[in-house]
Amino acid sequence: MFLASAIERLYDLQVGTTPVGEGKPHERPHKPLLLLAALDLIDDGKASAQRIPWCQDLRDRFTAHFLQVRKHNDQNTPENPFHYLQTQGFWQAWIESGTSSLPLQAPPLVNQMGTVFARFTEGFEVLVAMPAQRQRMREALIARYFPHLSSVQPLPFPVESPVVAEDEVDYGRSPAFRRLILDLYDHQCAACGLRIRLPSARDVSFIDAAHLIPFAESRNDHPTNGLALCKNHHWAMDRDIIAPGPDLHWHVSKLLDPRRSNGEKELAELAGKSVLLPKDPAFHPEEKGLRWRREKLIA
Ligand SMILES: [Zn+2]
Repeated sequence: MFLASAIERLYDLQVGTTPVGEGKPHERPHKPLLLLAALDLIDDGKASAQRIPWCQDLRDRFTAHFLQVRKHNDQNTPENPFHYLQTQGFWQAWIESGTSSLPLQAPPLVNQMGTVFARFTEGFEVLVAMPAQRQRMREALIARYFPHLSSVQPLPFPVESPVVAEDEVDYGRSPAFRRLILDLYDHQCAACGLRIRLPSARDVSFIDAAHLIPFAESRNDHPTNGLALCKNHHWAMDRDIIAPGPDLHWHVSKLLDPRRSNGEKELAELAGKSVLLPKDPAFHPEEKGLRWRREKLIA
């Protein structure tokens, strides 16, 4: 298990999204919050990668984070992710019974504190046990699920190894963001609808995952800060000659002269067309990022 593949799995937690009608649709925060709380406890020496106790400390950590990120009807229920994280494969929960332990079959109750615990598996236990890797997993969870909440971040953790270079961090992070965006947009360019994908290889795609507000500026890998774009439209958006707007339509720069070339003509014809969106509204691009792009468009 390498950090990059662990981060891909953390980016792809089955968190569930809220239905339309309960406020703005959003992803449920519980699974990534419980993982953050577990990492906190390990930092504090109150848990290990092999044993995360179902205890008041864990519940308190969860609640402290939860209160910062809750939306609409989200419920403060750490017991649910403690159990349901087991579906992700890298987390097992157990209940002690006499001298043996049995798999936990349901969300634990408050009065089961002291007998219920969880552990990381499938190689996660190795990564989680190392402070520097643990910190990078925490950063990935925050970038992916809670980018706007600096308050979720615990105090800077004393990293014992030399500070990791930015491009090395990106090595772990960018493929995870790319896969997430391509899956959500079904490998289709949000501008022209182009979809070129070789069926034999999952990762071979002509489509890029673009950030609306660049990661270096936003530290935001939430899918609502992303867009799937073909190479041409990614290139054009990054040069501010096309932009998606808060109206969910494309805007083009007046610099483009359709008479000059077919390429410019095609880009200019994008004006007024709809941004092609993922099915689930919880993943539609965030207005802040769209506004940022629209304002950068070269008039
Ligand atoms: Zn395109």
